[in-house]
Amino acid sequence: ATPPSSLEVRGLAFAYPDGHQALYGVDLTVRRGERVALLGPNGAGKTTLVLHLNGILTPGRGSVAVGGLPVARAHLREIRRRVGIVFQDPDDQLFLPTVGEDVAFGPANFGVSGAALAARVDAALAAVGMGEHRDRSPLHLSGGQRRRVALATVLACEPEILVLDEPSTNLDPVARRELAEVLLGLDTTMLMVTHDLPYALQLCPRSVVLDDGVVVADGPTRELLADADLLRRHRLELP
Ligand code: ATP
Repeated sequence: ATPPSSLEVRGLAFAYPDGHQALYGVDLTVRRGERVALLGPNGAGKTTLVLHLNGILTPGRGSVAVGGLPVARAHLREIRRRVGIVFQDPDDQLFLPTVGEDVAFGPANFGVSGAALAARVDAALAAVGMGEHRDRSPLHLSGGQRRRVALATVLACEPEILVLDEPSTNLDPVARRELAEVLLGLDTTMLMVTHDLPYALQLCPRSVVLDDGVVVADGPTRELLADADLLRRHRLELP
């Protein structure tokens, strides 16, 4: 049997309580090991879609499954473990005195302890190139380092899919390149929400374009970004 997709969104429709319809029948499949960029102009519905992935929002119609597990029928706790969201502001994920404690917090919360927990922390910090900073305060790190530690806090939970919200925002060119190298070195399935088209091109072989709550394109990033009409129609800007 073929393994389940990491993410399977089917016919997802959602309206906010004020009646604003943010998503209309969205289909999105991310297979294991894929890296997919989610592109689209402001207000397209990207955040609304992401909030469905870990059960914060409940679909009006349609379904979401993570690693074959339907979000609607799973414990929220298991969905939170499977869907690792790295928020735009790393400070949302770093709040303990040391880097090591921040990275241990997630897996400890999911029941990992002792030597297994120490091994998770070591592996996650090594994966983001921050192994030497375990005992430092996150407050003393650069913006790029903080973003990589925030990524480690999620990796330590061994998610089925990593969801990155605007990972390159507010990074200088060096930090931006370091983060790209780290992300390219991971074998984790990835969905990256971004306005940064060169970053999408560098990191994600496939992109999905959302506009006005509808998937308007899904294909190789290289081809989509070469389509000047598509970029213009959906207000996607290359630098
Ligand atoms: P951005 O790139 O600016 O983050 P986005 O693609 O993430 O945009 P969403 O934040 O998902 O877009 O918003 C989709 C639509 O839903 C927008 O028209 C937005 O104004 C609307 N919306 C978002 N949150 C709410 C809310 N709480 N109540 C009503 N409408 C909302």
